[in-house]
Amino acid sequence: MSEIRVENVRKVFGDFVAVQASSFVVEDGEFLALLGPSGCGKTTTLRMIAGLELPTDGKILLDGEDVTFNRARERDIAFVFQLFALYPHMNVRKNIGFPLKSQGMGRAEIRSRVEETAKLLRIDHILDRPVSGLAGGDRQRVALGRAIVRRPKCFLMDEPLGTLDAEFRSVMIRELRELHNRISATTIYVTHDQLEAMAMADKIAVMNHGVIEQFGPPQEIYDRPASMYVADFIGSPPMNFIGFNGGLKKGGNEIAIDHVNIRLPELAEDVAPGEMAIGVRPEHIRLRDEGGLRGSVYETEYLGTNQIVSIAMVDGIVKARVPADLAFSHGQNVGLELDSERLSVFVKDTGRAVR
Ligand code: ATP
Repeated sequence: MSEIRVENVRKVFGDFVAVQASSFVVEDGEFLALLGPSGCGKTTTLRMIAGLELPTDGKILLDGEDVTFNRARERDIAFVFQLFALYPHMNVRKNIGFPLKSQGMGRAEIRSRVEETAKLLRIDHILDRPVSGLAGGDRQRVALGRAIVRRPKCFLMDEPLGTLDAEFRSVMIRELRELHNRISATTIYVTHDQLEAMAMADKIAVMNHGVIEQFGPPQEIYDRPASMYVADFIGSPPMNFIGFNGGLKKGGNEIAIDHVNIRLPELAEDVAPGEMAIGVRPEHIRLRDEGGLRGSVYETEYLGTNQIVSIAMVDGIVKARVPADLAFSHGQNVGLELDSERLSVFVKDTGRAVR
């Protein structure tokens, strides 16, 4: 059992609020991604959980025990920075075994633990090689091995794939996820890369200026973003916004944009009149010759299995993801048909979703 519970944790540096009062729970065996742009407070949150930074307010509980004031090494947590820091003068076996040796564990037990860990990571064939000659992937696995050999209750990882190139990154994303499936250790993973978060995490916390804007499974965050910020941060290309004016009633609504009627999904509450926006993902737009919201093709980006068509509309560019075999020419007039069931609706002023 290893559950991480963060209760109203806040961090202030001088008069700068790095993390606003935040609460969330990472359940036993769960993989949480803390996602957001640089400076939003991800690392500070992680460092407080690790015990490297003291919260200004709030509590941190590990398996129900209040560890807020415990030092880092009194918490059974492995903190993994960029996964490359190895001891260059030691071989793979010694690198992986180092944390156990510093704990004073006996040689025979170290040996069996290191071998078991190396098998798990499929590097048991290189245990006696020096780390200096290893390729990037193997170095990363050795660094991971050093983190998991202690069998900590939880893993905290801060952009561990930060410096890797794209291709290698996607290999390591798969490996990390697979490793997680095998050892099921509770993990918090900090990243600014939404694709990484979507691919690996059971839950995502999207942060913005020290605030957790949304906390939930990847699909919920993608399908039902809680704010325009989240909608814009997740997805590539991100969600489109199409502005309109008016109030909305609880239940079903039909609005008119450019004299075209659009049915909105059911709303749980009335919404006072004001500036609003429809949010629509690129894959939830169909393009046709007649009818629909009118626009003209601005550019197309061919992606092999599909293409992204940018369409100039009255209030900006809208991007649609459509089959690759449809042909479009620059300046061609098209109609946009939006998938009513999949739309989001936002109040522009606050950026909050009302659906
Ligand atoms: P990055 O990906 O750039 O590390 P982050 O989301 O992890 O971003 P944090 O490192 O948590 O962000 O920093 C949040 C804010 O708190 C930043 O504006 C940072 O400058 C500030 N900050 C962090 N540590 C300190 C500190 N020790 N003293 C003062 N300000 C700090």
